Amino acid sequence: MTGLDREGSMQKGTHNKIAVPAKLIKALPKVELHRHLEGAFRLKTLLELARKRNLTEFPLDDEEAFRRIVQMTEHDEPDFLTFLSKFKADWYSTLEDPKRVAYEAVLDAAKENVFYMEMRFSPEHYARKSGFALEAVIEAILEGARRGADEGGVHLAFLVTLGREKLDANAMKRYIKICQKYKERGIAGIDLAGDELNFPPELFGKVFKGLYERTGFYATIHAGEARGAESVATAIRDLDARRIGHGLRTIEDPAAVELARERKIVLEQCLTSNRLTGTVRSIGKHPFPEYYKQGVRVTLNTDDPQIQQSTLNDDYALAAKHFTFGLEDFRRVNIYSLEGSFQPPEAQKALIKKYTAAFDAAIAGAPPTDKYGKPAKNTLHEKTAKRRERA
Ligand SMILES: [Zn+2]
Repeated sequence: MTGLDREGSMQKGTHNKIAVPAKLIKALPKVELHRHLEGAFRLKTLLELARKRNLTEFPLDDEEAFRRIVQMTEHDEPDFLTFLSKFKADWYSTLEDPKRVAYEAVLDAAKENVFYMEMRFSPEHYARKSGFALEAVIEAILEGARRGADEGGVHLAFLVTLGREKLDANAMKRYIKICQKYKERGIAGIDLAGDELNFPPELFGKVFKGLYERTGFYATIHAGEARGAESVATAIRDLDARRIGHGLRTIEDPAAVELARERKIVLEQCLTSNRLTGTVRSIGKHPFPEYYKQGVRVTLNTDDPQIQQSTLNDDYALAAKHFTFGLEDFRRVNIYSLEGSFQPPEAQKALIKKYTAAFDAAIAGAPPTDKYGKPAKNTLHEKTAKRRERA
């Protein structure tokens, strides 16, 4: 890792090759572009909701047994289907439930010192078993999350996730139309997720091609995770993807890598997630450093922190350890994230300015601040931290 990319800019300062200690990683302001609300619940909250509904098919009296059902634990081999099996939609009986989950998820991001987040959620997930109307779900989540963002001091926007195997093209268009009503309240883009293997991107060309011109929404497409580089190239060329969720297998075709680099497509990389789904065998084998070296706009994101029992700080620590990432590398990927955010240019510029000041303050040793300039809530869940120490 040289830290010198093909755009020709040099690392700044002398910090770069000094190993970044965990405490400083924690203090750095971070941009999170790829976090699913469905994977960002609090375990205790889900258990409480399960008890409230008396869902006796779950081990309601045994938190550890419940954990093994909804989180990846040391009992699970890394595997995509095992990972997917942890997403369940049984919990919601009133609209207060998704509202609370969203509120807590943003507060938890604040504790990781997330500066700006585009939190994605699938309205269909919350409506499926509960029978809630889509608009009602969207409103509940926006309200809960916004309250979390105000309390936690996080700049927040939303992406709506459309599941490939759940919705056909017409249903997706209907969803997008509904989302347009919530632009003012922060829905900034659309995410295509789900079973890439059986539902390749070309099936959704009609929904996504020209989406921005029609609706003002940019798209991020999960691609190059279950399928190869052609899936990524199709998402960029034929679905007008501005960002790619994962894009791991882009590396298999130099032309696809070049396409992503040249069009400044942001690859939303999620290291812990990729290991737990078995998409990469180890972090050392992850293509992230190769993309970075080639000037592709790679970024660091969690994906599903609670299902993974990880935080964004953990992913930063992995990058520091396995890719010898230094402070200026972290700064750069966060700027990539902000430049790839689905905000209008003026808002982006203001965020980048503020981010840079916060980053400089963090490396100068100033205590981290939130978007109001108040001390940030940047402590991990004590229990999660302790559990990780024991592991
Ligand atoms: Zn994802």
